[in-house]
Amino acid sequence: MANVADTKLYDILGVPPGVSDNELKKAYRKLAKEYHPDKNPNAGDKFKEISFAYEVLSNPEKRELYDRYGEQGLREGSGGSGGMDDIFSHIFGGGLFGFMGNQSRSRNGRRRGEDMMHPLKVSLEDLYNGKTTKLQLSKNVLCSSCNGQGGKSGAVQKCAACRGRGMRIMIRQLAPGMVQQMQSVCSDCNGEGEVINEKDRCKKCEGKKVIKEVKILEVHVDKGMKHGQRITFTGEADQAPGVEPGDIVLLLQEKEHEVFQRDGNDLHMTHKIGLVEALCGFQFTFKHLDARQIVVKYPPGKVIEPGCVRMVRGEGMPQYRNPFEKGDLYIKFDVQFPENNWISPEKLTELEDLLPARPEVPNIISDAEEVDLQEFDTTRGSSGGQRREAYNDSSDEESGHHGPGVQCAHQ
Ligand SMILES: [Zn+2]
Ligand SMILES: [Zn+2]
Repeated sequence: MANVADTKLYDILGVPPGVSDNELKKAYRKLAKEYHPDKNPNAGDKFKEISFAYEVLSNPEKRELYDRYGEQGLREGSGGSGGMDDIFSHIFGGGLFGFMGNQSRSRNGRRRGEDMMHPLKVSLEDLYNGKTTKLQLSKNVLCSSCNGQGGKSGAVQKCAACRGRGMRIMIRQLAPGMVQQMQSVCSDCNGEGEVINEKDRCKKCEGKKVIKEVKILEVHVDKGMKHGQRITFTGEADQAPGVEPGDIVLLLQEKEHEVFQRDGNDLHMTHKIGLVEALCGFQFTFKHLDARQIVVKYPPGKVIEPGCVRMVRGEGMPQYRNPFEKGDLYIKFDVQFPENNWISPEKLTELEDLLPARPEVPNIISDAEEVDLQEFDTTRGSSGGQRREAYNDSSDEESGHHGPGVQCAHQ
């Protein structure tokens, strides 16, 4: 019998490669009955797989293509007819069967190895200034001594016991007339699908075809790169015989910065100022991500309201691939007010004369209820309970003045 490149479709029908047309039909009918959507509405996918497998294997041309070239033979042989791709990716694409793992097919049809993903932590300074860093990693490369053959040419033979599949189908009799088919790893080749003559085995890789090698990658973190951005080293992942190596992918992880928060190309920071600065102007300095000292001046006469934000144009992050263009820097001002009783009552009167005038005195009717403002634990939020408390206190008539907290001046 011919060597079989892939047996997945046979496995779906639970038959061995080389099964007769008659046996194939029997197996299909039994499964189709069992998984028919009328009977088994949740097994729609399974039914599709069974139908597809039978459609291929019952057609002599398709079966020959599949036996010889496996999935790829079918894909090419099918000429990409409509609807085929869906069931293809369903059966061969991984997901359900998992045989393929994360492997995918490359454009030229060779099996493609897995990509290797590594996180790479970078500071905001690195992303602002750019940085070249070296990364050392250990990976499999094809053994140079045997060219990834595992031994002298001809030393490696396809395992006869499993026909190179690495798996064997065992038939177990459960009861008279009732057999169970199961797959097990081939014991002759330990699932490798091939055997190497001991004396011809490559000494360097001991027949493993690959050896570990330490590789140093030079990583260029460009100005303006972002959190989550990938730096790809094409084809640098593990090598294996007959497999196109996957990529090494570095996933940038931006570390938190103690001063700046980033939002795209913009930067945000918070700066504390006192009440006098908020009212009378100020200047302050900070160290930027490229270590420049930046002086921020705000002239007397201009007022900063608590929580307000001002912008400095062009002091944000450089744009990726256009680093002379930069985002903006937003500074939020946290205005620090003085403590309670920070000034004597007489001085307070003087201050009041300097400050903008109060709004008009409200008109209070005789049966108005007076309430207190209290400090509260902000972590508890302003629940209904808090509000009820305030009202309870005010029902104590005029006794509401001894408690701590901010009190309204009576007029
Ligand atoms: Zn070798
Ligand atoms: Zn074997």
